[in-house]
Amino acid sequence: MTPPSFRCLPAIDLVIRDERLNLVGQSLPRQQLLGFVRNAVDACRKRIVDGSEFDEAAALDFVVGQTLNSCQFELGRRQQFVINATGILLHTNLGRASLAQSAIDRMNAATGYSNVEMNMLTGKRNKRGERVCDLLCKLTGAEDALLVNNCAAATMLTLQTMAATREVVISRGQLVEIGGGYRLPEVFAASGAVMKEVGTTNRTYIRDYEQVAGENTAAFIRVHRSNFYQGGFVTEPDTAELVTLGNRLGIPVIDDIGSGCMESLKDLGLAEPTIPGSVATGAEVTLFSGDKLFGGPQAGIIVGKRKRIAELRQSPMARALRIDKVTLAALEATVEIHLSGRAREELPLLRMMYASPEAIRDRCQRVVAGLLPHQDIEVEIADCVSEIGGGSVPGSEVPSTGLIVRTNDAERFAALLRTADSPVQAAIRDGAVRLDLRTVPDSQTEQLTSSLNWAMQSGHGAGNTK
Ligand SMILES: *Cc1c(COP(=O)(O)O)cnc(C)c1O
Repeated sequence: MTPPSFRCLPAIDLVIRDERLNLVGQSLPRQQLLGFVRNAVDACRKRIVDGSEFDEAAALDFVVGQTLNSCQFELGRRQQFVINATGILLHTNLGRASLAQSAIDRMNAATGYSNVEMNMLTGKRNKRGERVCDLLCKLTGAEDALLVNNCAAATMLTLQTMAATREVVISRGQLVEIGGGYRLPEVFAASGAVMKEVGTTNRTYIRDYEQVAGENTAAFIRVHRSNFYQGGFVTEPDTAELVTLGNRLGIPVIDDIGSGCMESLKDLGLAEPTIPGSVATGAEVTLFSGDKLFGGPQAGIIVGKRKRIAELRQSPMARALRIDKVTLAALEATVEIHLSGRAREELPLLRMMYASPEAIRDRCQRVVAGLLPHQDIEVEIADCVSEIGGGSVPGSEVPSTGLIVRTNDAERFAALLRTADSPVQAAIRDGAVRLDLRTVPDSQTEQLTSSLNWAMQSGHGAGNTK
């Protein structure tokens, strides 16, 4: 038996120069592209060892094809702009809240040198985020505030600093998993605080807290059920009741409200705890995310009693978890918008949330009017239901309008939309692709139209040529 010949294998250089790789290959770092080509050549060599036969042209085709797949996979995970047509307003996989224009502008201004810890009038040093914290106090009625990386960090820092190794009492109905590995019992374990569970899954009474409170109790914690809901035979004390008990026993209350809602959502028929509401109960500290209903950048915001916040600020963990300068700039702009009373106009999240079904229907009609006819694909406008999502207002349903695209292969069409020049994330419902336009702002409808047209042309005949 003659040993296999590898002479057909293409030189790396030849593959790199192949014009089929022009589009994708050049948008990746050269070292990475080289790695993909080498892997592809190795794969081809292995095929030959296993008995496949290649001539030079076939080997080149194989190697280029494999390299192209690797490049496309890589580009698929490179962070880029995405049109969110899922109708899920806070889509964690798509980055939760979109930032306001002023937040984007201020972030840009903060990328180089910026006075993140300096007052430009006096030339003296000040605390990072000092002004944002002052504004947050005005906004929420709290005495002081502290900013960290996200709400998970806020919970960790609070438990660790307030409890150390003592007990924190929590209802068994609030032992939540937020997602991405954030499970309260594990957060407790990592913080060093001892989790003292009371009540049952569905019913916890104020007396349950009272019965376990003692010398070793550092705090009561209330955790919002952000991503699920309970119904039926259910009860638990609200924050105000817990604070009343806590005041009597000298035990502080931590209120982890998570979603960071500034004002009641009753206009939408939704119920969600608000930040000012939590502060007003007298909770020692209130914790929330910056990028959920607050409509800003990823951040963990702690507002509460002056002495307690000062104590949290002193912790070495606060330094380890501190907010970065670019995020801080975006948060400052977001807080200013809330204070100006123009949140519904200026924060993309709230603008989308309060958009009327008629405005969304208009948007759908504009997109459909721009679609090129296609014999095998049907597009219709239909009612649908948006969700708030992203760990807030569980079970929320907001009526909306969207597009239903019927093709013979919904999965494939959705995949094409994801790889368009303006990538689109849609949903598949009942075998059709559904696009909810509540989460597609007017500024993106033209891009959405082109992506749909591109996918419709690519889906049949020529294939994905991108
Ligand atoms: C979302 C959420 C968190 C985690 O917030 P991140 O900002 O995502 O870290 C913590 N607690 C509650 C109640 C939440 O809803």
